[in-house]
Amino acid sequence: MLDTLEEKVATNQGELPQYYIEGHHEAIIDPEEWEAVQAIIEERSIAFKTRNHKKYSKNTHKNVAFIDKLQCGECGNGFTHQRAVERRSDGKEYEVHRWVCRLAQKYYAVDGCSSHRFQQTYFEQHFIKMLKELHQNEAFQAEVNKVIARTELSAQELNLEEEVRKRIEQLNQALYEAVDEELHQDGQDSKRVDDLSGELVNLHKQLKAFSDRKKLAGQYKNEYKELMKQVKKLHEEQQQPFPAELYTQFVEQATVYKDGKIVYHFSMGIDWSTDERYESYRYQLLEEKKARRHAKRKKKHSDFLKGPEVTALLEYCEKPRRWGEILDFMNTMMFISDSHLRSSVIQTLMEKGKLQKEFLPNHQRKHKYYMVKK
Ligand SMILES: [Zn+2]
Repeated sequence: MLDTLEEKVATNQGELPQYYIEGHHEAIIDPEEWEAVQAIIEERSIAFKTRNHKKYSKNTHKNVAFIDKLQCGECGNGFTHQRAVERRSDGKEYEVHRWVCRLAQKYYAVDGCSSHRFQQTYFEQHFIKMLKELHQNEAFQAEVNKVIARTELSAQELNLEEEVRKRIEQLNQALYEAVDEELHQDGQDSKRVDDLSGELVNLHKQLKAFSDRKKLAGQYKNEYKELMKQVKKLHEEQQQPFPAELYTQFVEQATVYKDGKIVYHFSMGIDWSTDERYESYRYQLLEEKKARRHAKRKKKHSDFLKGPEVTALLEYCEKPRRWGEILDFMNTMMFISDSHLRSSVIQTLMEKGKLQKEFLPNHQRKHKYYMVKK
């Protein structure tokens, strides 16, 4: 018993195997307590994992399709990913993912790069736009046809291939004879065997090169078909997620220039681009920001019109009120200018049919009054 206790006290630094045999020794902690502790550990561990998961979940928004594919058109370096959390005017936090040329990122470099950071969404949008433009694009198809024609064997090469085959047959026969002769002459003519074998190896290499090109041409045709199928789908659907698979499969590299021009180097050996530039994308972002701000202002105004001050005003206007009375009344609750009250409160309430402005009947002074519309 003492042994057990002493072992428990000494810190096991790896020199002893650490294990716990259930019910082997008299338990130091009683099982119920042990269970409770385990439950707490488990709970903490889950909480820790969840917290960490939340903390690092940003990484899941990194577009992995771009890894090792982006190349700086200004300096030739690769791109690296950056993420940031930005707080917007709605008080919420937004993750922003950017990609930047490795050299441009080193702003302190003497021979630095003049490129800059790009939003990840720009690259995604740019690729989708480029793909959509490929739909029924005759210039692109002509380019693909050119590549396929270049890869396929010409009529002349097909003839040559046939000749090579025939020559191989002849050489095989000659080699067979030479070997046969050599065997009978006890190795007197080994040079001829070597020459024939050497020529055969070269001819087989030539045949292999021809067959590789045929295979490649077939592969290009299939790839083009597949690409066009996906492009058609993109063309038909309004909102589509970034086609990561397509990017991975067809884009060998994308060269990014500092104005946002991107040239895609397709696996088929074709370079392609669109007119899309970063400036127009930033303009679009700005417009979206404006729209968000506008929506926020609108919401605030509509909340205000339902709020306590306007509710009190409408109660106040159960009886006809003159403009001056209304302005004074509102200013007992809040500071509001004459023009602001008129344009953004009273005007709106009248448009909504909640207030009306009239001359009171049977009244001598021709003053206009505001009152709640019945
Ligand atoms: Zn660069």
